Amino acid sequence: MTTSPVVRDAKFYLADGDLAICSALSLGDSVTVFRVHKVVMAYHSPVFRSMLGLPPVPGTQEMYDDAPVVRVTDSAEELRALLDALYDPGALHVARWDPDAPLTLTPAMRLARKYDIDAVCKRIVDTLKESWPRSYEEWLCFRAEYAVRSTMCNPLNKEFPDSMPLWAQVPEPGAAVRFAREFDVPDLLPFAYYTLAGIGADDEWERYTRDWSMPMSRPARWGLLGREDLVHVLQGREQLGRSVEMLEHEWLSPARLKDTLEQARSGFREPCDYPEDDSQLVTMLKAVVHRPFPQCPDPLDVLESMYNISKQWPLCSGCTHALKRRIRDQQRKIWDNLHFDFRLYAQ
Ligand SMILES: [Zn+2]
Repeated sequence: MTTSPVVRDAKFYLADGDLAICSALSLGDSVTVFRVHKVVMAYHSPVFRSMLGLPPVPGTQEMYDDAPVVRVTDSAEELRALLDALYDPGALHVARWDPDAPLTLTPAMRLARKYDIDAVCKRIVDTLKESWPRSYEEWLCFRAEYAVRSTMCNPLNKEFPDSMPLWAQVPEPGAAVRFAREFDVPDLLPFAYYTLAGIGADDEWERYTRDWSMPMSRPARWGLLGREDLVHVLQGREQLGRSVEMLEHEWLSPARLKDTLEQARSGFREPCDYPEDDSQLVTMLKAVVHRPFPQCPDPLDVLESMYNISKQWPLCSGCTHALKRRIRDQQRKIWDNLHFDFRLYAQ
C-alpha cells in the first residue's frame, strides 16, 4: 500500500477492526496503521461519519489487511491519543492540578477539534477549567487548597518530609495559556495571566525540573508564551503593582486605616466593646504582608494574608467584621478587574 515502512500500532491494531487509519509519515519515515471500528469512529465523529458514508468508487478503494484504508495527515501520537479517548473511558483523566495537563491533553484535543468530537473537547476543557478558577468564589477555594499544599511542602515544616515541591503539584500557567490560545478557551486566561504576573522571569520550568532545590518558589514555561501573551502579562503586572501600592497605602498607615475603619463601620449602631489600637493592628498587618519580590505583585494574596489573622486583630467584633467585609469587597473588585488589568476585554 505504500513504499514507506508500515508499523502496526501496538495498542490499536484490533483483530476485529474494519477500518485501517494510516498516520502521516513519522520522523523515522514510517507510517503507523491503526485498525479500528468504523462504527465507533462514525458514532463519535460527524467527519468520519460522512467520510465513511460515501460509496467507494469501484476499483479505487485502497485496502490493508482486508480493511479499507483512510489516510490522514495526523501524527501517530495524536491518533493514539484520540483513539485512547474514544476507546478507554479513563484515558482523559489527569490528576487534579497536574502541571502537565494542558500538554498531556493537547494531542487528543487537536484531533477531537479536527474531527468534531464535541464530547471529548468538552471533557478536556472542563478538566482544565477545574485547575484555573474562573470566579472569585472559585479563587477562594483554590487559595485555601494552595495554602494547605504550600504548608505541607515547606521544608521548615517537617510533618511531610516526602512532599513534592510546591511547583510540581500546582497548575502551571504557561502551558495553560498556550492551550487557551490554541483552542480558544478564554476562560483560562485571566487567572493564568495573574499567576504568571506573580512568577519571576528567571523562574523557567526547565531549570526547576533539573534542580529540585527550590521547593517553595514557582516556575513557568515562559517559552510557550507568544509575544502577545508576554505583553498582556507585563501590562497586568504593572496594574497589579499599582493595586498593591494602593492597598499598602490604605491598610498599612495608621491614619488611613482609621478612615477605612470608620467608613466600614458607618451604619453600625452598636458601640465598640473596647478601644481600638490602630498602631498595634498596623504592626500586625505589616508583619504578614510579605513582598519579597515587589516586581511580582499579588494583591489578592496580600489581602488574604491580612484576613487570615483577623482572629488576632485587637478590635471589637463589630470592627473586625466590618474590616473583614472590606477585605472581601476589595478582593472581589480586584478579581472583577482582571480582564481590564490584563487587557482581555476585547476577546
Ligand atoms: Zn470596634
